[in-house]
Amino acid sequence: MSERTIDAGIIGGGPAGTMAAIEAARNGLETAIWDRGTFPRDKVCGEFLSPEALPLLRQVIPETMCRSVPIRRAEFCSKRGRIRSISFPEPGAGLSRLVLDHALWEAAQRAGARCHSDEAVLAVGRGAPEGEAAWQITPASRRVTSARRLIVACGRWWKLSGLASPAGLENKRSAGEWLGAKAHFRGIEAMDAVEIYFFPGGYCGLAPVEDGAYNACCLVNRNIARSYGGSALPDFRMWISKIAGHPVLDRRLRKAVQTSPTVTTAPVRPARRSPESSGILIAGDAAGFLDPFTGDGISIALHSGQLAARQLAEAFEGGLPLPPALRYRRQLSRAVRRSYACASLLRHMVRAPAALQDWLAAAIPSFVCSRLMSETRWRDFPMR
Ligand SMILES: Cc1cc2nc3c(=O)[nH]c(=O)nc-3n(C[C@H](O)[C@H](O)[C@H](O)COP(=O)(O)OP(=O)(O)OC[C@H]3O[C@@H](n4cnc5c(N)ncnc54)[C@H](O)[C@@H]3O)c2cc1C
Repeated sequence: MSERTIDAGIIGGGPAGTMAAIEAARNGLETAIWDRGTFPRDKVCGEFLSPEALPLLRQVIPETMCRSVPIRRAEFCSKRGRIRSISFPEPGAGLSRLVLDHALWEAAQRAGARCHSDEAVLAVGRGAPEGEAAWQITPASRRVTSARRLIVACGRWWKLSGLASPAGLENKRSAGEWLGAKAHFRGIEAMDAVEIYFFPGGYCGLAPVEDGAYNACCLVNRNIARSYGGSALPDFRMWISKIAGHPVLDRRLRKAVQTSPTVTTAPVRPARRSPESSGILIAGDAAGFLDPFTGDGISIALHSGQLAARQLAEAFEGGLPLPPALRYRRQLSRAVRRSYACASLLRHMVRAPAALQDWLAAAIPSFVCSRLMSETRWRDFPMR
């Protein structure tokens, strides 16, 4: 069965997809969005919102943002002790993905987008060449929707007949190196910092989130993770304690009580990908995944989703010198080029052996570290 043609079809309801839906609907486009999950749903994430994400979020979900916790510093800690504290020029915030993604989904609904949760999109394909619709979207319900334009925001990987997932190809080549895991805790003494604990083979972040809870999220080399039980992790604290053997982290978690099930994701592999394929605009992690320790993935997802929808809205208004996909590719590339270059530099520090990490931390002045971190952030350029 085929419905009438809409202006913008958006696949994936994370920060990138919902932001695109909000922007498209606010610009008067008839918009629909699909997600395979049901909200609220959990997600492996450090749950640190970088300062660059906050103005956008305060605009679209102001009440929810009142629940977020300000985070003013990053504390880095090797197994030998605290090695570096960096104050942010502007505070970031902590908020769980359970709350954040649900609020964004509802905001997309309020903005006027048709929101289909619990409905995976199975296939996308070109509409009939003589018809006005460019794309046919086939979800699990088989109720086909025709859309003039398409934004894909399916995260790091997807299974979508008609659009190859670049992550699938990458992972086959390199068998993805990292496993991500997270759980929430209570009973951790509050700090206004995101804490990063390094150990050989990975790192674990601690960040305060809403309602007095703490999020612990780690990335661990998959071979090491496998030898400690793989991804079946009922007790996060015991698992990370065995893997990391990090005395300072153990002390921080000593009185903590786990309040949410451990969730895991693998493989995790930073990669820059194409933001466009045959005229489809690709946003968020689907267009490239920045190292999680930069804490800017959500911000980049939000901004790229908004940018993609703006390009479509402007194309509908007409009179643009370039097709929207080309304009989007150019704008996105300008906004994140430096992010990837600096993140790959920082990656070497994160993956260095413990002794070298300590030496680098002592040798590199704080202002250089904080400059490098700030260079990973989304950069706004005026539209042209
Ligand atoms: C371990 C780890 C820690 C991180 N920590 C942080 C942090 O502290 N701060 C930060 O800013 N970033 C962090 N990130 C990065 C951040 O999680 C991502 O950048 C962000 O989630 C990207 O948003 P997105 O909308 O592109 O994708 P996602 O949030 O992955 O959303 C994609 C959505 O698409 C849906 N979907 C997929 N396929 C289909 C389909 N076929 N049909 C319908 N729906 C589909 C999925 O259900 C999902 O809801 C971290 C990432 C990891 C792995």
